[in-house]
This record gives sequence, structure tokens and C-alpha cells, in this order.
Amino acid sequence: MKVLIVDDTNTDRVLLKLYLSKLDCVVIEAHDGQEAIDLFLEHGQDLDLILMDVTMPNVSGIEAVKAIRSIQESQKQEWLPVIFLSASSEEESIVEGILAGGDDYLIKPISQKILSVKMLAMQRIADMRRRLVETNLALERLASTDYLTGVASRRAFESALEQAMLHFREIHMPFACGMFDLDKFKAVNDTFGHDAGDEVLIKVVQCVRASLNDKVIIGRLGGEEFGVILENLNEADAFAAFDKVRKYIESHVTTFEGHDIPVTVSIGVAMFHSVENDNINTLIKRADQALYEAKRSGRNRVIYHARNMVH
Ligand SMILES: [Mg+2]
Repeated sequence: MKVLIVDDTNTDRVLLKLYLSKLDCVVIEAHDGQEAIDLFLEHGQDLDLILMDVTMPNVSGIEAVKAIRSIQESQKQEWLPVIFLSASSEEESIVEGILAGGDDYLIKPISQKILSVKMLAMQRIADMRRRLVETNLALERLASTDYLTGVASRRAFESALEQAMLHFREIHMPFACGMFDLDKFKAVNDTFGHDAGDEVLIKVVQCVRASLNDKVIIGRLGGEEFGVILENLNEADAFAAFDKVRKYIESHVTTFEGHDIPVTVSIGVAMFHSVENDNINTLIKRADQALYEAKRSGRNRVIYHARNMVH
């Protein structure tokens, strides 16, 4: 553990340092509240614990902890345990310390035994908190990823569109949204089974990546419907890119249990026009209309949404 000791009394600091070194801790020291704040700003993310004397000249321990807690809050930092140290056992002093953001309170003189078990308790809470943060991150990943193909979920795809819209507004980067749907996919499931259908979906995603690039944002919007975001290109280039995807999928047949399963896709493409007249919903709707037109006019084609296209 890395511990910050804050105390204006030399002998107290020396004693604490001795105790902590026996517990294999790395120690840094501050002589007053202001130095504590400065060292926190410097080492904050690496620290595991702060031992803070209450009574110090200039900036007191209470004031220093208040400042540290507000920095942590504004920067959304992880919880860092703080134990106050004081010669005073008055109730008011303990209440004030906890209210200022302290997690525990030790009365001087401090015994090595009590200090070491208090640190154990703080470590336990820190571990629990870390596990909680990790679990939340894993859940977030799960919710933002399609379990079968590994592409973005619908929700994550929509927030990627929001991000693209931000780039459009801030640095005028144009972008296209392509929506594609596998042609007659139901027949694949009916003829070869759902496992084969899953294999085809995985293959199609691989084809999109192979024909564009690995970093392109793909989202699975429904059963066999996908969305793709292409940034930094004009209408003609967007159309060409999506036609490349279409051809690539057509010429790369999925093989499942000895059966060749050829599939094609219909693609609708729409460009984002302006922040004033367009939003994510209207963009998706226009790409959807173009996709519908691609299906209606014979499938296995890319249709670009012209501004005058109405359905
Ligand atoms: Mg003091």
C-alpha cells in the first residue's frame, strides 16, 4: 500500500512511518494540510490511504480533506480512504472529521496493532469497491456489444452516431450511415437451421470489416439488420464503399457443415446533412427508406437516399 502521512508533529510522523514500514507500506509525508493537497494532486491515483492529523497550522486536516474530496468528486476519481488522527477524543471533533469526508478516526497515541487492523478494514472496502467497478464495466461492455457477432449493440450504435454528429458539428467531418439487411435470410434459417444462420451473420460482419477496415463501426440493429457508420467521405465515396461491401459479401460464401450458403445484402445509405435540419432519427429513417427501396427494386444492391426520395 502507498500511504500519505500528514502531521505537523515530527515525532508522530516518525512513529507512524516506523509502524507502516513494518506493514510493507510505501510512505510519503506532508507537514501540513496544504502540502497534503499538493501531494494528493501529484500522487492521487497511486495512493491507497491517507492518515491525516486534525490539528495543524494554516490549512487544518479537516480543510485539507474537504479540498481533496471535492477534487475527487469533480474529477470522478475512485474512493480513497482517509483516517483522521487526533489527540482529541471529543465527540464533536470525530463528527466533524467524518462529515468532512473522513472514513475513520484514531485517537493519539496510536497503537501499531489498532492501526494495522484499521488499514486491513480499509483495504477490504477498497477491494470490494474495485470489484464493483469492474463488474459495472463488464456489464456495460455486455450491454454495448452484440453477443453473437461482437459488433455494437443497437444502443451503442446510436451513441456512436451521436459521436459522429458531434464530429460533424465541431470539425465539419461528413459522415454516412448505411443500413443493410440480409436478403431472404429466413430461407437460410429454414433450410439449414439457426446455427447456420448465426454462422452466416458472423461471416457477413467479417466481410464488412475486410472490405472496409477493422475499425469501422458496425451495429446489429435487429435480427439480420446492421448499421455501418463511415466518416470523412463524400456521397460518391460512401456509395462506392458500400457497393464494395455488397460485392464482397456476395462473393464470399459461408460454408457450414459441408454446405455452401451464399447470401446477398441490400443496403440503404444516407448522408448526414446539417445539424439544423437533421438528427440521428431522421438519418436512420432516411437510410431505412433507401434500404426499403433497395429491397423493393430487386435486392442485392445499394441505394443512396436522394433528398427527394419519399415513401
Ligand atoms: Mg497536529
